[in-house]
Amino acid sequence: MHGKRHWAIGLILGGVAVLLGTLVLLLPALERVYLDQLGKREAPTLTLAVEGLTGSLRRFEALPGLIAERPDLARALRDPSDQALIRRVNDDLDRTAEGVGLSDIFLIDPTGLTIAASNHWKELSFVGQNFAYRPYFTLALAGAQGRFFALGTTSGERGYFFAEAVRDGAEIVGVLAVKFTVDAFEDAWRNGANKIIVLDDAGVIFMASRPEWHFRSLGPLSPDALAAIEDTKKYPMDQLVPLQATQEPFDARFRKVSITNDDGSVERYLAQGRLIPEAGWEVVLLTPSEQAWTRAIGTVAITALLLLLVGLIATVVIQRRLQLQERIRAALSMQEELELRVTQRTAELETANRLITQEVEERRAAETLLRQTQTELIQAGKLAALGQMAAALSHEFNQPLAAVKSFARNAGAYLDRGEPDKVRQNVGMIDDMVDRLAAISTHLRNFARRPGEKTEPVLLNRALDTALVILEPKMRGAGCRVTRDDLLPEIWVMGGQVRLQQVFVNLLSNAVDAMADQPDPVVDLSLDMDGSRVHVRVRDRGTGMTDAEIAQLFDPFFTTKEPGKGMGLGLSISYNIVRDFGGTLEGRNHPEGGAEFSVTLKLAEAPSLAAAE
Ligand code: ADP
Repeated sequence: MHGKRHWAIGLILGGVAVLLGTLVLLLPALERVYLDQLGKREAPTLTLAVEGLTGSLRRFEALPGLIAERPDLARALRDPSDQALIRRVNDDLDRTAEGVGLSDIFLIDPTGLTIAASNHWKELSFVGQNFAYRPYFTLALAGAQGRFFALGTTSGERGYFFAEAVRDGAEIVGVLAVKFTVDAFEDAWRNGANKIIVLDDAGVIFMASRPEWHFRSLGPLSPDALAAIEDTKKYPMDQLVPLQATQEPFDARFRKVSITNDDGSVERYLAQGRLIPEAGWEVVLLTPSEQAWTRAIGTVAITALLLLLVGLIATVVIQRRLQLQERIRAALSMQEELELRVTQRTAELETANRLITQEVEERRAAETLLRQTQTELIQAGKLAALGQMAAALSHEFNQPLAAVKSFARNAGAYLDRGEPDKVRQNVGMIDDMVDRLAAISTHLRNFARRPGEKTEPVLLNRALDTALVILEPKMRGAGCRVTRDDLLPEIWVMGGQVRLQQVFVNLLSNAVDAMADQPDPVVDLSLDMDGSRVHVRVRDRGTGMTDAEIAQLFDPFFTTKEPGKGMGLGLSISYNIVRDFGGTLEGRNHPEGGAEFSVTLKLAEAPSLAAAE
């Protein structure tokens, strides 16, 4: 289960890692896209710069031709010594320069000597300077339009020169040149984040929004170009030091330029250039390219964060789902297990139940068998007893009967002999014998159990008292005392008067028998009540009973007494009698010696007076 969860989370994390890796790999491509966007976005800046420059070039381009047509100029060239004329030309050029926004306008004679200039009044005036080395002069003198960019040798200002021939009729008598400075452009360029540089055909940066780049180049200059620059005194030779720059093409429109400054810091740019063909220039817009890299990194970082977030959410969601599934599964399996256990338990219970039923049936069968056996035994015992009793009875009866027979015979003989006194004496003896026979019969009847007799409330005390009276002679003969609790005068129990009395006679008689060898035989009679029952205890101080004896006490014909003395029926009969009353009879050894028999009987309500009568 955990494996599955880990597996799913691993998959998500792996996916996120792969995507992140891909993003990192995509970084350069992303940078390219942003660079391209950047270049396209900044392209209008380049266009503006180019158009500003070409606009100015076009505007000033026509001026030398127009100014050169002024007649005073040719005249002054013809007669440079005419001071008034020269002064007039000077003023005129000064005014014109002021009016059209040119830096300088100056008039050069065919030898290259400047004879008049708008800046005549300045300390560093062009007047008297020779510009024969400048290409614009030579070109103009040849009848073409001269144009040239250079650092002014006099002014020290960078400027663009246009020159046109001054004609007197068809003859070229001199050259009129104008110069405009480019500082204003650079000032305008400095405002943006972009750098703008203008390279001439030799590759020298002559305009730049960063002044320190003036006269530098992006690569080394060729020896020819250097020689040409030296010849025309175009730029100060000592400042022509190439920048530490590398260039690599980016695409058809852009290239990448990195410039290492003197202090070692590196600046990277996206460069795009445009040629101004009439001037032979290339205007190059340098856009700092770090922002594209920064944007690319930013995009990757944000995407990565988003990915991580998505991964995290997915992880959490999946984990929740898996947990839920796990719980459901656990609950299901627990339920299954429970059901299984219930089924098992039920099966076990059923088996146990079956076993119990079986056992109960076996017990019942055993009990029935036992009872049957017991009944049979009793029956057999009864028969045996009957036999024994018959023998005993015939023995008991035969003697008095034989005596009665001989007394009767004697009486007859005495009657024949006419001895009435003797006859009376024998008849009296017969009477005694019959009394004795009757007594035996009564005694026997008392022991006879009469089942089916009804159970009714009887007085416990009366049964006890009668039993004691019956046993009086035996007790006296044995010298036995009886101790009795202070019994309540009237305790009604369920039973039959004579049968209950018989039970107590039995118990008391056994107690007396058990103490035959004791010097001071005592029977304790006690009684206590417990709810709906009463316990009557008969305790003797005899030798008690062995365990084997206790086990067989209530068996019919179990006796330890000598033959003729006991029949082993007393306790058995008593047991059954008490059971008929709904009570119990128990025998045990008393802890302080001797045997104790207890009869437990159900308490009964006293019957109404009429019924008791
Ligand atoms: P019997 O008295 O004819 O032997 P019982 O059924 O009354 O028959 O008694 C059975 C046996 O129980 C006696 O033989 C005797 O061993 C034992 N017994 C009964 N009462 C006592 C007693 N109080 N003390 C010792 N043994 C007793």
